[in-house]
Amino acid sequence: MAVQNGADEHEHGPQPQPEGKPEGKPLRVAIVGGGPAGLGAAIALSKLRDIEVRVFEQASELREIGAGIRIGYNCWRVLELLGAADRVKGHHKTSIVHRNGLTGEVVASSGPTPVPFRYQVRRVRRTRLQQALVSQVPGGIINLNKHVLSIEDLGQSQPGAGGVRIAFRDGTETTADLVVGADGIRSAIRDSIFPDHKIQFTGTIIWRVLIPTRTIAHIPDLISSTSWWHGPEGHVFHSPVDDPAEVAEEERLSELSARNLVDPATATGKKFSWGVPATNERVESHFKDYDPRIREALGQVPEGQWKEFSAFAGPRLETLTGWDKVVLLGDASHPLSGAFGSGAAFALEDGWILARAIEHARSSGQPLAKALEIFDAIRSPYYRRMYEHLDSQKQKLQDQQAKAADSLVGTATFTSTLQQRVAAFGGEEGLPWIYYNDIEDVWKQFLKGQSGASL
Ligand SMILES: Cc1cc2nc3c(=O)[nH]c(=O)nc-3n(C[C@H](O)[C@H](O)[C@H](O)COP(=O)(O)OP(=O)(O)OC[C@H]3O[C@@H](n4cnc5c(N)ncnc54)[C@H](O)[C@@H]3O)c2cc1C
Repeated sequence: MAVQNGADEHEHGPQPQPEGKPEGKPLRVAIVGGGPAGLGAAIALSKLRDIEVRVFEQASELREIGAGIRIGYNCWRVLELLGAADRVKGHHKTSIVHRNGLTGEVVASSGPTPVPFRYQVRRVRRTRLQQALVSQVPGGIINLNKHVLSIEDLGQSQPGAGGVRIAFRDGTETTADLVVGADGIRSAIRDSIFPDHKIQFTGTIIWRVLIPTRTIAHIPDLISSTSWWHGPEGHVFHSPVDDPAEVAEEERLSELSARNLVDPATATGKKFSWGVPATNERVESHFKDYDPRIREALGQVPEGQWKEFSAFAGPRLETLTGWDKVVLLGDASHPLSGAFGSGAAFALEDGWILARAIEHARSSGQPLAKALEIFDAIRSPYYRRMYEHLDSQKQKLQDQQAKAADSLVGTATFTSTLQQRVAAFGGEEGLPWIYYNDIEDVWKQFLKGQSGASL
């Protein structure tokens, strides 16, 4: 690992590869957050010349508290560009089944995505993605135990001048020419540049765990596919997360992820929970009406293993940059609470595009502000499209539910809207602009489109 904790420096990854002879003062970049967005940005930015990159992460060690993560075409493409794709192994999703969680009836199913094998969807342990990214970060640039409290613009009178002061909880501070806010959904950097922006509890609570696959292997129809078991107020998701070619049978893990939705209006005062332990009783109480196979699977989770996450989301940001020297990446830039199940890809794409934008602006003698303008021009419309899609899906579902409620009650309403709910998941084919996004192509299109244009 390429991590610095106080004065300690541990193992080193590959060193930055300057593209030529340094000219003038290097650009001092401070990346706040060591999740996918921060690590991806650290890899991409460190490859530029005349740059000094530091990552500040609040945790005392880099760890992933989630369970599994979905890696599809868009993510594989950017992982390739970052040099990390080969290290990310997981379960190849050959069969995906959506069921009525109460009856077990199959509502929809699909097979592998129609792309070359290496780009097909895998479910992987989050730690594997993290380790693959860390392995590509240059040595000694990650600083742990550095919780950023706030940032201050040191050159307010002149946009872009003066840099940014960064204040840490431990009482220390530093300055940078560019601050990259990669500090997740509850971003302190976002709070500093957009103090009026607020996120709220969405009403969804998610419990996640990885358990040995052998402990649920006896349950009929479960481990043979990735499956969604939908209920009136949530769902249970199951997927293996290991590549059988890599992990011995007795060591393979499966992910269980259970969601329950409550009316956020009735949950006032809800405290933010993120990766906190939850008891089996608490989790199971929400799924008592589910198919016996799901109840059996939940019953196999060892006490103390569940982690609870309450989903928060906020409105779209008009721009992802501030002060001409601060930029938001990943969940900080589009607080959508894991919608689309592809947030890691978005986070990595952001970092790669930021590096291209800086490189491009510099090559044409333009200031940092221009690079941020280019970044924003590419990424803001993309996130706007996601917000618009979610709004229209929500409206469709509400209309359908209202129609069904006129003539049906209780589980009958649930059954009649289930098909629509499953369709609302979208899937790869329904949302190619997300799941088949090729970030390198996006950049090429930008370069093509801008010849003669103002950017
Ligand atoms: C339940 C759930 C399921 C999901 N499933 C998927 C999936 O299948 N596939 C997928 O691609 N995405 C999925 N996502 C989304 C994905 O996890 C996120 O989009 C992704 O982790 C975003 O990366 P990030 O680096 O922006 O933020 P994070 O992963 O949240 O990382 C932020 C980092 O910043 C650090 N930090 C925070 N505040 C500070 C501070 N003030 N100072 C210093 N450091 C700080 C944190 O400790 C953390 O390390 C899911 C999300 C949820 C909630």
